[in-house]
Amino acid sequence: MARIVQKFGGTSVGDMERIRSVAARVEREVAAGNEVAVVLSAMAGTTDQLVAWTREASAAADPREYDLVVSTGEQVTIGLLAIVLQDMGIAARSWTSWQLPIRTDGAHTKARIENIDTAALEADLGQGRVGILPGFQGISPDGRIATLGRGGSDTSAVALAAALNADRCDIFTDVDGVYTCDPRIVAKARKLDRITYEEMLESASQGARVLQTRAVEMGMKHHVRIQVRSSFEDAPGTLVVDEDEIVEQEIISGIAYSRDEAKITVARVADKPGVAAAIFGPLADAAINVDMIVQNVSEDGDETDITFTVPEGDRQRAIDAIERSCDAIGYGRLDHDANVVKVSVIGVGMRSHAGVAQRMFRTLAEKGINIQVISTSEIKVSVLIAEEYTELALRALHSAYGLDAE
Ligand code: ASP
Ligand code: MG
Repeated sequence: MARIVQKFGGTSVGDMERIRSVAARVEREVAAGNEVAVVLSAMAGTTDQLVAWTREASAAADPREYDLVVSTGEQVTIGLLAIVLQDMGIAARSWTSWQLPIRTDGAHTKARIENIDTAALEADLGQGRVGILPGFQGISPDGRIATLGRGGSDTSAVALAAALNADRCDIFTDVDGVYTCDPRIVAKARKLDRITYEEMLESASQGARVLQTRAVEMGMKHHVRIQVRSSFEDAPGTLVVDEDEIVEQEIISGIAYSRDEAKITVARVADKPGVAAAIFGPLADAAINVDMIVQNVSEDGDETDITFTVPEGDRQRAIDAIERSCDAIGYGRLDHDANVVKVSVIGVGMRSHAGVAQRMFRTLAEKGINIQVISTSEIKVSVLIAEEYTELALRALHSAYGLDAE
């Protein structure tokens, strides 16, 4: 007998027919003798509608009332699934977050789960009853409903799996797993059987479409074996696991990209202590996340250019912040360019293999693609290139690292 958490996203519970097929999946686990806890999202589109209503009600809605409204979509789906299961003769009940409770911190609209009291639920599971819980929410210290931020049901499921010490946490979604690259661009992309938590976190641009980042962090911390799989077909998905669970580790597990980048260059600043601090201080104060950074020293050694990237959505605010600090920084010119893409090769294997970055640079050079900025971490090499080369770069790198499907 195993203890399993199954999570179904919005499209998987999008209408009554979908909810019935969720019930069939639950039934299969119950028939196999397993204890099953289910975490559900709201029906696809419901949360968007609820958010829109709160905005219509007020541009500055009280976050507690916002949370109350947007949390309701999940209450509908958990009740409906319980009804359908009962109708099939399967013992099941819904649990709202206060009934356990699921406790969060006080950061309404983006709360973090602090603790889940599973005693009553476990007693019930032990009686063979399926427990159905709402994703995306909990109870804050002030005793009110708090939501976890959009996409938060993944995190709810992983937190529950950790609290229940579940054998597996299956995330059923509308993709069938994690791929070596975006299959919409690279036709030869392959579905991975396994990926490490760290690789999943590094491939955020690709991974985050599949699993909320916080869910991966939570899984890594508590060693929850997460399986991402399709709710529309039966094939096994991708397991997100600890590194030591991967027997034959490839050096590179995937190639990710992000178009959501803008490049800013602060040109002709003095090459002296304190200049970088003068530039990045105001950006930090404005809560703008700077990603890649390079500094070019000029020939005479007196002046230098500093180039960095920020999320495209923060570009204007970043420029404003720097212009406001113009006197303190003392620069010659400020340039910006949103026509860039960040391409990254990712793999825990590069910790122990040399030449990974070199292969990337050579491959791009052979295609005549100019690299504008480079950054690295222990398991990732990223380059910034002009956006029009996205497809060419991804396909060339995918082949160069031997990732192409036969
Ligand atoms: N229903 C919430 C949302 O749409 C939470 C989730 O589905 O993960 O963001
Ligand atoms: Mg989701």
